[in-house]
Amino acid sequence: MSTPAANTYEALNEQTAIQLAVQLNLFPADAQLSCREIGDGNLNLVFHITEPSTGRGSIIKQALPYVRVIGEGWPLTLDRARMESEALKIFARYAPDYVPEVYYTDEQYAITVMEDLSHLTIVRTGFAEGAVYPLLSQHIGEYLAQTLYGTSDFALGADARRELALQFHNPELCKITENFVFTYPLIDDESNDVEPGLQQVAQQLWQDQTLLLEGAKLKRHFMTSAEALLHGDLHTGSIFASDEETKVIDPEFAFYGPIGYDIGLFISNTLLSALARQDNSRELLLHHVLTVWDVFSTRYRELWQANNQEHFADVPGLVDDQLQHILEDTVGFAGSEMMRRVIGLAHAKDIEAITDDAKRVHIKSSAALLARDFIVNRGQYRSAQQIVYALQQADQGVDITHG
Ligand code: ADP
Ligand code: MG
Repeated sequence: MSTPAANTYEALNEQTAIQLAVQLNLFPADAQLSCREIGDGNLNLVFHITEPSTGRGSIIKQALPYVRVIGEGWPLTLDRARMESEALKIFARYAPDYVPEVYYTDEQYAITVMEDLSHLTIVRTGFAEGAVYPLLSQHIGEYLAQTLYGTSDFALGADARRELALQFHNPELCKITENFVFTYPLIDDESNDVEPGLQQVAQQLWQDQTLLLEGAKLKRHFMTSAEALLHGDLHTGSIFASDEETKVIDPEFAFYGPIGYDIGLFISNTLLSALARQDNSRELLLHHVLTVWDVFSTRYRELWQANNQEHFADVPGLVDDQLQHILEDTVGFAGSEMMRRVIGLAHAKDIEAITDDAKRVHIKSSAALLARDFIVNRGQYRSAQQIVYALQQADQGVDITHG
């Protein structure tokens, strides 16, 4: 792993973060500034610098040379800050409305200075509090089509795509995903977090050879398909929103991977929030799943027709074949993500918040069996409607384990 030269890297604190903001002229020279470290993620420091008299703010995000929630015992490359700021800048080329503006980056200090989005709410938090964000799936569908098509072979041509992929060699962060999403939840690993009521379901899944085989294939696919520049961690904790606006943050897991991974993560986390809802608003979250696929696939086709470097682009059926392949991947990766959110280390906050044990365990079992269906039967999915239908079946206790 790469380590910083000892004399160049230093972790910021609230005072030095203000000094940096002053040096960078982020505020008028005479501004009175205050600063709070607001990082609630697992990995990095996030400083919110504000000028209370005007309400203006900036964000300074800094990577630590280790995993924040674990400490120095788990070193992690500082290069992830470069991945994040480079990815934000590239995504801004293709989907400027949906990413924060980057004002400044410093590779040595692993710092990204960016637009303050504090007027928005993290979707994972908002979903847990009952929010719906009516434009979320429209915006995310556009973001996904524009960034994923825009960085693909079809838009860039193979030479430029290969050149760009070289910048996003991100082995340490990819390895975290390979372990915690694709490996540990499918085996009886000590890192898993399985509550007692779910033990039987977990044991059954860990002995399921079909699930292991299909899960292993998805992992291979994640590791070897350099289709587009992915965000790489597009769960609802990486999205800020309001009723009008949507912004995607935190692409430190960016790398060239299979397009369906980003779409699958968004869909999976939205489905988990839908499962956690007991009222009519569940339908609105399920509707996001239909809309995100609809907007993504429509926009992808438009972009395909408008600009395509592939010699065979006009061959009838090619774009349909691509979209069917992306849908299958989306369903499979949604399954891998869902499995890790009920069996792996990092769980879905809104499901964990359900205090009725029987209800919580029922939802988790439904999610685990739905995840299995997505992984094993991904090739049978032809529409987003089928995804929603599968969730409804799973929630009603229909046996979907033998498809
Ligand atoms: P990590 O990489 O550690 O997961 P995130 O990028 O997810 O860090 O940021 C952690 C938290 O910091 C977010 O959940 C959000 O509350 C806050 N945050 C991050 N970026 C911004 C921003 N541009 N504007 C306002 N708050 C932000
Ligand atoms: Mg994060």
